[in-house]
Amino acid sequence: MSTNTTDQAGVRVAIVTGASRGIGRSIAMRLARDGRHVVLVARSLPPLNDLKSQIESGGGKATAVACDVGDAGAVGKMVEQIAEQLGRVDILVNNAGITRDNLVLRMSDAEWDEVIRVNLTSAFAAIRTAARPMMRAKFGRIVNIASTSGVVGNSGQANYAAAKAGLIGLSKTIARELGSKGITCNVIAPGFIETDMTANLPGQVKDHVVGLQAVKRTGTGDDIAAAVAYVTSDEAGFLTGQTICVDGGMTMC
Ligand code: NDP
Repeated sequence: MSTNTTDQAGVRVAIVTGASRGIGRSIAMRLARDGRHVVLVARSLPPLNDLKSQIESGGGKATAVACDVGDAGAVGKMVEQIAEQLGRVDILVNNAGITRDNLVLRMSDAEWDEVIRVNLTSAFAAIRTAARPMMRAKFGRIVNIASTSGVVGNSGQANYAAAKAGLIGLSKTIARELGSKGITCNVIAPGFIETDMTANLPGQVKDHVVGLQAVKRTGTGDDIAAAVAYVTSDEAGFLTGQTICVDGGMTMC
């Protein structure tokens, strides 16, 4: 384990939403390996407790918290409780996300609202609460996991692309508001990553996307985790307001 500085025992505390599987799980494992005390957040505890045991058996530190991030009030309370219990919130990774794809003419209000709530409003609520302990500590690293859909758009994803583009505008604004307090805020925009979210897409979609990329393979959770590890590190203090597309060179945004 590396000893990246500081919970109450002197270790940086990193909240990762959507940590039960996929990209969030990879991010949590990577940050734990890098010496962070990782707070694992998703809707139900059993997969989080499994991951917590795995991290702890490797010598790392983890806390599991069940929270539906679609409920902005619950997100704020969750972040507040972590700050109280662990004494600090140094890193916030807003990763939890869902898709409810449909062509715009057929998209229901419910499909629109749910995606905006889970993918965008949750990040606003978490940042608003985490900013206070970060400002007190004069240190913070916020990362919002968007998508290349939010950068270049994607047919069938008006709700999702709007939420992800919203994360980019939110992040630039947070970067400007809080930069003088030692807090950075950046976006990682993944391309096609092999997870449950993409598992049911037809093979032709996958082949088409890989064909658009410079690097001819699909991405992994570890590809995203490596980028998150850097932008949340102590040494990344001069990097803020950026959108980094980790997409095998698909968009070169
Ligand atoms: P998965 O579907 O594999 O995992 C989603 C995660 O989010 C799970 O841990 C899930 O936990 C959690 N989650 C979903 N809804 C909620 C909720 N209401 N409250 C709390 N947690 C919730 O997705 P990926 O790992 O693929 O995606 C992770 C992020 O990366 C998302 O923001 C996604 O938009 C983004 N992304 C993914 C890409 C890909 O190709 N896979 C491409 C671009 C962006 P649980 O169900 O246990 O609550």
